Order: sequence, then structure tokens, then C-alpha cells
Amino acid sequence: MALTFDDGPGGSTAAILARLTRYKVPATFFNIGVNMAARPSLARVEARDGYALADHTWDHPALVPLSAAGQAAELDRVSAEQCSLTRTVPCVLRPPGGDYDATMLRLAQQRRMGVWLWSVDTQDWMADGSGSSDWVQRIIRLAEAEGAQLRHPVVLMHNQPIGNPATVSALPADHPVLPLTWLQVRRALAIPASCGPGGHAGGTKGSTGWPGRGVAWVSGGEDHARSDEA
Ligand SMILES: [Zn+2]
Repeated sequence: MALTFDDGPGGSTAAILARLTRYKVPATFFNIGVNMAARPSLARVEARDGYALADHTWDHPALVPLSAAGQAAELDRVSAEQCSLTRTVPCVLRPPGGDYDATMLRLAQQRRMGVWLWSVDTQDWMADGSGSSDWVQRIIRLAEAEGAQLRHPVVLMHNQPIGNPATVSALPADHPVLPLTWLQVRRALAIPASCGPGGHAGGTKGSTGWPGRGVAWVSGGEDHARSDEA
């Protein structure tokens, strides 16, 4: 399993980090460049605490309509910002909305970056800043329903500027497993914080190497190659 948090750093990033670090749960933060520039200290804390920072574009546009140069700028500005803040560069990217084309895949390959989508969508962003228990239970229900069917779920959650209190509450607080029973802390994996000598996102040392290079698959997306075993 991999936990991923998109669109940050934001209003709940510190609270998410507090819950993750308490149980040493790895996770990947797919940051937006403008949000890193606005909250540089949070990006630094993510890196300092050993979490992987990944590229979710500079300002979250739909990438496919952009020119190759426009797409490249969206990726490279994030790398430059992250490098200036943390002395690390992202080696994985996630296109906004999961929408990509051959141009984006080529740009990623040129930069030796992996492309990660997701396979479990908690739809937590729909809470729109609410922390109500209804939203918390919905996030957990969706994660468990989808994640239980997969060997290596890639779970999509958010840490947006508006804040995601329901997402925070869905993470473990006083118990390493409950209420998020699907979390299975010991099996959690994360992508490496740096690209390493191979320059690819090949999983952490000692892991199976999953999810490896290329595109992690997304549930419900008939147009996307499914390569869960890759
Ligand atoms: Zn996003």
C-alpha cells in the first residue's frame, strides 16, 4: 500500500504529518509548486521527516492541452522549487486529474521521473474543508472497499490549502491501525525521497520494487493501462 497526499502543502499538512510520524507510516506528498512557495516550511518538514516529495505541477493545470514546452515548465518549476527548499528533487510525478498524454510521458522519461496515478480514490477533497464524522466515515468506507480488493493499493488523499480535517481524522490517532483498518502500517511503502543513482522510482530498498517504473494504475479508468503487477 502507498498513501499519497495531493495538492499541498496546505492547511492540514502539519496535522497529517503528526499522525503519520507517530506510527512511522511512509507516505508521498504530491505537492503543487505554488503551494510549496506559499508554505515553504511545511515542504521542508516533509523532507526533513523523511517523506517523499513528488511533482504535482506548478499550478495544477490540465496538462494535456498544454504545449510540450508548457508541460515541461509545469514539471521543471516544481523541481527547481523543491530543490531550493529541500535539496532534493522529485523523481515521481502525478498529472492533475490523472490526465496525461504521450508528450507528458516522454517528458517524464527524459527526466527519469516515474508517473504515478492511483488505484483507490477516497474522494476526500469533496468534503470541501468539512471535518464532519460523515465525511470521515465516507473516506474510510471508500478506502476499505476499494483497497481491500488490491494487493498494492495506491491511496489518493489530499492536503489542500483549504485544509482536509476529515482526511486527518481518517488517519490513525490513538491506535496504530484503527479506525483506518486498511492502513496495515507495517506494509506501507513509500517512493524514495530521492531518485538515487538509478534515477528512477523503483520502490524503497528492501521492498519488492513495486510499483516500479511507469504508470501506476487507476481504478475505473478504462483508458489507462493496468499494470498493478509491474
Ligand atoms: Zn491535484
